[in-house]
Amino acid sequence: MKRLFFLLLLIPSTFFLFSQEGKFLTHYEKSEFLETANYQEVIRYSKLLAESSPWVSYESFGTSPQGRELPLLILDNENNFNPEQVRNSGKAILLIEAGIHPGEADGTDAVLMFARDVAVTRDLSGLLDHLTILIIPAFNVDGLARFGPYNRINQNGPREMGWRATAQNLNLNRDFLKADAPEMLAWLKLFNCWLPDFFVDCHSTDGADYQYVATYMMEIFGNMDKGLTYWQRDEFLPYIVPRMDEAGYPIFPYVSFRSWHDPRSGMVSSPAPPRLSQGYSAIQNRPGLLIETHMLKPHQLRVEATYELIRFTAEFLNKDFKKIHRLNKQADEYCKSEEFRAQPLPVEFKRSNNDSTMVDFRGVDYTVEKSNLTGGSWFKYSGNPKTFNLPWFNKPEVSKYITLPVAYIIPPEWSDVIRNLGLHGVDVLKTSEPVDIEVTSCLFIDPQWRSRPYEGRHMMNNIDCKEIIEKRYYPKGSAVVMTNQRTARVIANILEPEAMDSYVRWGFFDAIFEQKEYSETYVMEVMAREMLENDPELKEEFENKMVEDPDFAKSQWGMLNWFYSKTPYWDWKKDKYPVGKIFNSKILEKIPFEE
Ligand SMILES: [Zn+2]
Repeated sequence: MKRLFFLLLLIPSTFFLFSQEGKFLTHYEKSEFLETANYQEVIRYSKLLAESSPWVSYESFGTSPQGRELPLLILDNENNFNPEQVRNSGKAILLIEAGIHPGEADGTDAVLMFARDVAVTRDLSGLLDHLTILIIPAFNVDGLARFGPYNRINQNGPREMGWRATAQNLNLNRDFLKADAPEMLAWLKLFNCWLPDFFVDCHSTDGADYQYVATYMMEIFGNMDKGLTYWQRDEFLPYIVPRMDEAGYPIFPYVSFRSWHDPRSGMVSSPAPPRLSQGYSAIQNRPGLLIETHMLKPHQLRVEATYELIRFTAEFLNKDFKKIHRLNKQADEYCKSEEFRAQPLPVEFKRSNNDSTMVDFRGVDYTVEKSNLTGGSWFKYSGNPKTFNLPWFNKPEVSKYITLPVAYIIPPEWSDVIRNLGLHGVDVLKTSEPVDIEVTSCLFIDPQWRSRPYEGRHMMNNIDCKEIIEKRYYPKGSAVVMTNQRTARVIANILEPEAMDSYVRWGFFDAIFEQKEYSETYVMEVMAREMLENDPELKEEFENKMVEDPDFAKSQWGMLNWFYSKTPYWDWKKDKYPVGKIFNSKILEKIPFEE
């Protein structure tokens, strides 16, 4: 009852909540904080808020694969409910998302109460002075509709909750960049249409036991704009962290242990790849706050910690709205600049085991038990708080830098890639005539794939890219993506094969690795002999390969296909990245574009 009691004591207008049989109490509050809102209740309550306050608009921003509305609440005290009006009003835009993983139910309950307290009871109405707040109370709505008590084995309540994945069994929090899910396509339209100044994504995490009800993550590792990095690290977090402490919900960065579940091994933080929410907003030049409450804490505590973290976030943004506006704009402008393109751009990181800082971590005492059931060891938590002084490895190293070209060019047949670039807010030009131009590209050496599916795809295991420079024919309708735009980081993360979540890695280009024509043995046995006779260099190469590669020397198919690859019949496009990079702006001047 803590929240109700707190509200009753401190906020007279909250009596409003109790009129008409508690019309504005959420399902969570009515259940004495033991239950979460199901899908129907999220929609009913969201619409109730919109009907009850001129400051709230309810919209559906898309439809799920099972036909459910994706709900969006827009909170604005001047009744500006479209992006253009809001931009003209000069307010900052805060996007808060809950229920991307509906089993982690606390975000949904927290944001419904928060929306009410801001716009209906107006106890927090001041937050709208300089903010427009967008709230997605439930993103994965089909997952939420898979409601039941057995969806989160490690988690302490609520009584029933939704399911992690979508109806298509996709994890939306791996889908931000590749955008396979219809829900994500709708989200990207929403994001790029509103281009929020700050993004909050609410989760509840598994993992080791510790005292913190909530942990958080922000991208402060060098994978986003410097100005925004410093603002998050030196201004936003120093405002939030002590306030959460005072409110009784101390927070700590979201970490994992170097050895799975073993706190003794030390803690690790690394940049989020753009498949994840905060990693995605980072490459869009927008700060993102990942909230991860702890699943062993009761549902009520998790909801309260999420609520407070959102409240303090909105409070700081409302106060600092001019600065966050300016920094976002500067980050966007910088991405368009020559100076940005002249810098090497990091697209892949690896954890560093060398550089750590010692920190106090408010953990829970444990013993290591030897299991007589499985033979393994496990950590048995006592429930007693204990502060550990642990090394924290939070300085990841860049493992791949790229140099941004002036533009990328993509043949028109890769239409899903071109479409997705548009959905990510990238401006794409189309060629109005075919062109023969020199591009820099990539020949992939010995590509390998994961044997098991991951998020509906088989990702590539290795990217070994041999740089090639060649003249290529690009048909009319090819897409040219200039890099002097605000989305330059998004473009590089999609199109640079070595980037962490590149479309090559995700398999968008898998067809280029298939051999479509083969030589018959009786054709190649004859031709190979002629080739050896006529070409002494080839003969030497063949003989060396027979010595150096025993597998090759045993494989008739391997040898004949090798000879085939040395003939003019070989598919010259195989294993070559169809996307070309243009580094010379003079080449661009020759390309005619559609109006
Ligand atoms: Zn989650």
